[in-house]
Amino acid sequence: MNIKIVHLYPDLLNLYGDRGNIQCMVMRCRWRGIDAQVKEYRLGDRVDFSDADIVLLGGGSDREQQIVCTKLQSIRSDFSAYVEDGGTVIAVCGGYQLLGHYYDTPDGRMEGLSLVDLYTQQGSPRLISNVILKNEEFPYEIVGFENHGGRTFIGDNKPFGTVAFGFGNNGEDGKEGVMYKNVIGTYLHGPLLPKNPHVCDRLIGTALERRFGSSQLEPLDDEDEKRANRYIVERFVKEEKQASDR
Ligand code: GLN
Repeated sequence: MNIKIVHLYPDLLNLYGDRGNIQCMVMRCRWRGIDAQVKEYRLGDRVDFSDADIVLLGGGSDREQQIVCTKLQSIRSDFSAYVEDGGTVIAVCGGYQLLGHYYDTPDGRMEGLSLVDLYTQQGSPRLISNVILKNEEFPYEIVGFENHGGRTFIGDNKPFGTVAFGFGNNGEDGKEGVMYKNVIGTYLHGPLLPKNPHVCDRLIGTALERRFGSSQLEPLDDEDEKRANRYIVERFVKEEKQASDR
């Protein structure tokens, strides 16, 4: 069995360890005897979605997003067909914002891919925090770190999680990220997947299901990762409680 992981514009969208997300997916496949190959596409390249199983769109500063967003328009229809066909996507922070219709900043509007019905507006101050999310579709909490000026609004779409600690999409509605078909968009980095092996396995699972019609994943020994996750959850939930008791 083998899968192809597509990394879009790693030279520009690479804030906060997006390569760590790639490494995590590759290793969790290999440890199970699944061969995972990584294909990186740079700005001038023609992106081929036909043999892609997981697409990663990483985080970037506003300046880098602006460069990428122009290019994204030329791959929009192929990318959209991939998503509508159940293709797996993980988009982090700047990449998450670009999944939507637009990202408005004081310098103007960046047109997004409109793959998911959401939009983003820049606000002040930046939302910077550790984050803990709850989502019953996952066996335990999702943890990470956020740092964004954009406020994202996802309408009736399903969030990636509800915020137990941190700001989330916009600091107002208690939602973080988005889930649409097999797309996950999120502000969480850290990087996301090594901190959350259950999220990594979900991406691998949906990719295998689409390609081979089966997503049975052999369990791996995640005791260290689970202990680290637990530590973060207990630490920040306790801090929140102490702050509200004060
Ligand atoms: N430039 C975007 C923002 O500040 C995304 C930042 C990021 O990817 N960390 O909202």
